[in-house]
Amino acid sequence: MAELRKCCYNILMIRKLLQKVFSPKQKGHAQHSSAAQRFSKRTHGINKHHISPAALKTTEGLQKAGFEAFIVGGAVRDLMLGKVPKDFDIATNATPEQVRQVFRRSRIIGRRFRIVHVLFGNETIEVTTFRGHHLAENDNAQVAETGRILRDNVFGSQQEDAMRRDFSVNALYYDPKTEEVWDYHDGVADIKKGVLRVIGDVETRYKEDPVRMLRAVRLSAKLGLKIDRASEAPIARMANLLQDVPPSRLFEEMLKLFLSGHAMESASALRQHGLHHGVLPLLDVVFEQPMGERFVTLALTNTDQRIQQDKPVSPAFLFATLLWHEVLATWQKYQGQGEKSFPALQQAMYEVSDILAEKLSIPKRFSVTMREIWGMQPRFEQRGGQRPFRLIEHERYRAGYDFLLLRCESGELDMSLAEWWDEFANADTAHRTQMLQPDTAPRKRRRKRRTSNATPQEA
Ligand code: ATP
Ligand code: MG
Repeated sequence: MAELRKCCYNILMIRKLLQKVFSPKQKGHAQHSSAAQRFSKRTHGINKHHISPAALKTTEGLQKAGFEAFIVGGAVRDLMLGKVPKDFDIATNATPEQVRQVFRRSRIIGRRFRIVHVLFGNETIEVTTFRGHHLAENDNAQVAETGRILRDNVFGSQQEDAMRRDFSVNALYYDPKTEEVWDYHDGVADIKKGVLRVIGDVETRYKEDPVRMLRAVRLSAKLGLKIDRASEAPIARMANLLQDVPPSRLFEEMLKLFLSGHAMESASALRQHGLHHGVLPLLDVVFEQPMGERFVTLALTNTDQRIQQDKPVSPAFLFATLLWHEVLATWQKYQGQGEKSFPALQQAMYEVSDILAEKLSIPKRFSVTMREIWGMQPRFEQRGGQRPFRLIEHERYRAGYDFLLLRCESGELDMSLAEWWDEFANADTAHRTQMLQPDTAPRKRRRKRRTSNATPQEA
């Protein structure tokens, strides 16, 4: 019996030792450095009622189980700025497995750095274990030659977690229980001053992850914060590092940039910092053509308004607008080389969308929609015969028409064309027939058989 007890005791000790070595943090025992300043509600002004109940339940659940848990990142920053956060992220010293054990409805996602999604109804709260120092010295496998971090998957302390975040205003931790904000990098002061400042050595941080330059521009436009001088200075010089960023990551960031409700400011800030070459290599061409600039400005302003009015926006439509003038120029180039209008447009559309697919790894379904929108445009100018009846039945007619409207508003086409289509769309069949203009478009070769998508008039 004594032997058995001794054996159990030994197993227990070994387990404790293993836990001590391998767990990122010991349960319940804070190991904060004195480096954190702690601010009370009077200073940070965050109203707990503005926090999603799901986020509060998550921190509470973890804290009750003996772990540390904070609301972190964009949400704390937005709350302090009096803005409504997009989502609430939680940082904790619990490992993903430990988080899983606390919440029945949760799942671990990601292979590289595992995070936990805790589910409350249709809300998902993302819980991340504090991340540690990404670089063991001389660990070449984790860093590319340019200094870009390839892997970043080590657990760490809260202080280390704060260090690896990008901007001081993004490294704030709010504890709903005490209503305190923990601040390791003077983020509270920066928010009050309206400044966006990179944590640590600016050049190193941009080299580690060049996307941070895009984030600086985007967040500054979105939040109305000024990028501090030292954080801004190297951007123009280091912009070319964006070329090494995987296209899928760039695409993700581009979507955030253009679908944030501040696309216009973001695009001109990108241009001002010379970052548009890296991300949308064609954007500079667009802005340099007077018509192109007008068109893109209208498209971006329009997108911003739709987002502010909570209306849906389509990324494919937006990218189609950004590149339209490039398509136009390429189309004209091929026509100038003797190509007929239709094949010249097809060639131009594929050429431009292929460049975009390569640079930004735009998903195929977006490229297809973009080409549909572009391909429809010449058809709006044909207002005779059966053509308008066929066009109006097109699956993407609405997008095609909105695109036409932008072209008219930007002065590329006469406004009367969009007005004609507006009237045509809202008219009954008799009125539509009256509206038709003499059919001057070249006749298509007669088809042998009528197709099934014929309009009622054709049937
Ligand atoms: P948004 O309001 O657009 O979501 P955000 O700052 O919350 O802005 P997220 O992409 O949601 O952006 O990132 C959450 C947090 O993760 C950030 O606040 C920041 O602390 C950290 N973070 C995100 N991207 C980086 C990065 N490239 N380098 C370092 N830290 C990052
Ligand atoms: Mg966020």
